[in-house]
Amino acid sequence: MPELPEVEQAARTLGAQISGATFDGTVRVSWSRTIHDIPADTFGGLLAGATVTGWQRRAKWIVLPLSNGMTFVAHLRMTGRFAVLPRDEADDAQQRVAFGLTDGREVRFIDQRKFGRIRLLSAPELATLDADHGPEPFDPSLTPATWHATLQSTSRVIKTVLLDQSRIAGIGNIYADESLYRVSVHPLKPANTLSKKKATELLAAIRAVLRQAIENGGSTLRDYRDSYGAKGTQQDNFQAYGRTGQPCGRCGTAIEKITVGQRGTHFCPYCQKAPR
Ligand SMILES: [Zn+2]
Repeated sequence: MPELPEVEQAARTLGAQISGATFDGTVRVSWSRTIHDIPADTFGGLLAGATVTGWQRRAKWIVLPLSNGMTFVAHLRMTGRFAVLPRDEADDAQQRVAFGLTDGREVRFIDQRKFGRIRLLSAPELATLDADHGPEPFDPSLTPATWHATLQSTSRVIKTVLLDQSRIAGIGNIYADESLYRVSVHPLKPANTLSKKKATELLAAIRAVLRQAIENGGSTLRDYRDSYGAKGTQQDNFQAYGRTGQPCGRCGTAIEKITVGQRGTHFCPYCQKAPR
């Protein structure tokens, strides 16, 4: 499931292809729920003549500002990906929506599992989406002090807090496990029992893990591709995630897998001491 680095890479590679391009208003829909069951004509009418002015990412959302004041946003969920192709190129069997551009290309959304969603937001709707999420991990306003205060405010286990998009945006199962491993914090440790020092270390680890993953184009376990169709390589650097039974890189103990909040969770039982 794409997390911050994968969405960042997908947004960057989509933006690189269509910044400055203009939607012609044609929308071909094969799975209407992808665009929230809005009729193709209605969606296309809002898009027609709008030029993509750049690209951003907010949490796990791809965000493309448009010249008409609206914003094209997409959530990849499990298997969504974009491709920008000439209009006469054959459709992918798992393609859900295609948006025409005035230059003869199409922005196509391909999504095997069909959970991905695309919306056109007004400025107030975009503000609501923004407000629904916590700070970005790289936001300078997220300081060790504010992060420690966030952790102090809840007794839920730290793994669950890292996945809570209203506390910190963009982290999913992979990068939560990798971050906790780096600082030797057990995933079941209550958030409010982390010291200021440990909270500071964890924030630095989150940033380091995400930065490395962004540099490597994200992780591809099965389905993830960027908007050029390329895989990420960060999976080659995993130290905990998906390494059940393999030796910890620090102490040699076998990595264990438990379930936390219904999510498979990987950790070293020696380095990451269980909370008492
Ligand atoms: Zn270890």
